[in-house]
Amino acid sequence: MTQHPNAWHNALSQLDAVAAKIGLESHIHARLRQPKRSLEVSIPVVMDDGSEQIFTGFRVQHSLDRGPAKGGMRYSPLVNEDEVKALAMWMTWKCAVVSIPYGGAKGGVACDPKALSQSELERLTRRFTTELLPIIGPEKDIPAPDMGTNAQVMAWIMDAYSSHAGFSVRGVVTGKPLSIGGSAGREEATGRGVAITTREMARRAGITLAGASVVIQGYGNVGRAAAQILSKEFSCRIVGVSDARGGFYNPRGLDIAQIGRDMTTHGALPAQIDAERVAGDEFLQLPCDILIPAALENQITTQNAAKICPKMLVEAANGPTTPEADLILRDNDVVVVPDILANAGGVTVSYFEWVQGRDEYFWAADEVNRRLERIMVNACNEVGTIADREKVDLRLAAYISGVGRVAEAIRVRGIYG
Ligand code: GLU
Repeated sequence: MTQHPNAWHNALSQLDAVAAKIGLESHIHARLRQPKRSLEVSIPVVMDDGSEQIFTGFRVQHSLDRGPAKGGMRYSPLVNEDEVKALAMWMTWKCAVVSIPYGGAKGGVACDPKALSQSELERLTRRFTTELLPIIGPEKDIPAPDMGTNAQVMAWIMDAYSSHAGFSVRGVVTGKPLSIGGSAGREEATGRGVAITTREMARRAGITLAGASVVIQGYGNVGRAAAQILSKEFSCRIVGVSDARGGFYNPRGLDIAQIGRDMTTHGALPAQIDAERVAGDEFLQLPCDILIPAALENQITTQNAAKICPKMLVEAANGPTTPEADLILRDNDVVVVPDILANAGGVTVSYFEWVQGRDEYFWAADEVNRRLERIMVNACNEVGTIADREKVDLRLAAYISGVGRVAEAIRVRGIYG
């Protein structure tokens, strides 16, 4: 029987691989194999019909070694402690790879946000925030949007936290609406980072971006922004897009602008697109130059990896490829651009938002994008240089960079007590 891959086991095995490669001291390795802090809470919510329902929520802080913990809040029926632990660990490496002064965290509530009304979602969020009061805060742990949450949810978190503090605490979350201290460019930042990383790593791999065919799995905030920027600014041909209900394929290229307009109206991929419908697993096997998984973890496994052969795979999602599938892709010469580099644009602009809030001085969108560009290009260059020097793939190179920075922080800080 095939076992469903476990994200936490995958994250540990990635850490173990880099620890062996760089000869990481065993005490630092052991520290990094465990989250610093993990809180599970029960969240009682009064539903619209007057009944009371208990939801389970988590916040895991994997590392505080380089600064306050940072990472998103996920609302999804699949949320569980191991998933949140893995996502928190990946945040630690991600912040270190782009060299922003944060540790890693993640939170989540096991719920189906689509099945909840706006007011149920609001009550759930406010109560969840209250349960997390002892561990979150602008100097401690700063949540942001992730799958199933958005700027509105961040506004509720900020409001609930601020009500307890007695004054407005903007820096407790990022990804807020602009009207309460959000940053220009934050909404599309993860997608923009994916596009920049795609461009940099394509150049390195000798792939011409103009006209390159791109398939994107998942058309949420990240997939959609990446599609728009890759097609409009970098002249790529987006040939496939999908959501949880299935995908569309048109080798001549899809009309991304029209799909975007339809999505704004309907909130989902339109039912009718000038394209062939493609089901589930077949979607990832579509012929293309660049494949961008932008949905969930564990999409590329030993079950399908051998049939997935783009020239380059750019991980916009967190953890879309299992370590075993990674080896298969490597054997097939697929250039894999790892999540901890490819999707770091979101948390980078979160950092800008936090900095702007502390300064009470807000930058224009072009300023945000210029700074994002610089950080992403630097990180791509660093990871590429390590890959060449150590003769390793881009994932291991990114881990050498990220884990190396965290280990150095632990070394220099030493142990208290
Ligand atoms: N949820 C996003 C991620 O996985 C953003 C996290 C943040 O901005 O703190 O990277």
